Amino acid sequence: MKPRLLKVQNVSKSFDGFKAISNLNFSLAEGELRTVIGPNGAGKSTFFDLITGRARPDSGRIEFGPNIDLTKLKEYEINRLGIGRKFQTPSVYELQTVWDNLVLSLKGPRSVFATLIYRLSSEDRDRLDELLKLIGLYYKRDLPADQLAHGEKQWLEIGMLLATNPKLLLVDEPAAGMSDEETHRTGELLLSLAGKHSLIVVEHDMAFVRQIARHGRVTVLHQGSVLCEGKFSEVQADPKVREVYLGRGKHGHK
Ligand code: ADP
Ligand code: MG
Repeated sequence: MKPRLLKVQNVSKSFDGFKAISNLNFSLAEGELRTVIGPNGAGKSTFFDLITGRARPDSGRIEFGPNIDLTKLKEYEINRLGIGRKFQTPSVYELQTVWDNLVLSLKGPRSVFATLIYRLSSEDRDRLDELLKLIGLYYKRDLPADQLAHGEKQWLEIGMLLATNPKLLLVDEPAAGMSDEETHRTGELLLSLAGKHSLIVVEHDMAFVRQIARHGRVTVLHQGSVLCEGKFSEVQADPKVREVYLGRGKHGHK
């Protein structure tokens, strides 16, 4: 068994009396790729907000590593511990090149100006070259980010997160708005990160979930709690899951 990286214990969070997260318990091992699914409003994004310090739990504990309680830390402190989040819409520096976007994400110099005149070490350059290959943008390094396709921008943003060398990556609906081909490549990219990084991926697209969960586990959230957890095939066969999520036919998500 790999050591545990994240443990969420009895966490609840209400907004104006509405329980978005209700007595949530969740645990992630180092190097794991966990997929989280659940109907709209199940609390998936709020779950990420609570881990990253964007929202505070009303009760419960969120432990990172052996004994860091994230609920006591500010958002930037949590980020510095190596927890990176990818939001649904890509946020890259549109006018900067792919390469400069990655340079700007390296740890170290702060301002855009300081970063762009900063001399990269040869190790930094090698690392960014590797990263460009990994995200499939090696030959597009000199293009301004606004000339990338939607999927490519998403990969660039994943690359920017990876440039910070995070321990834990939280990825919210990466396949949204992607073509089938882009979705598949995104799945392969995320799979290649598992082991070196730990990942929690929220997704709706079931073909994509099946792809990325082929070695890992799936957690189903419903009304702010874990409804069921297991292999993709187990979760898919669970009558509770079929009822709230998979079985909603054309009214559910694809
Ligand atoms: P999901 O990502 O699973 O679709 P969310 O976590 O975004 O669900 O939302 C869960 C519930 O919490 C929704 O009913 C949503 O309206 C509510 N919610 C989330 N964040 C806030 C907020 N900042 N203020 C008020 N309500 C919120
Ligand atoms: Mg969401």
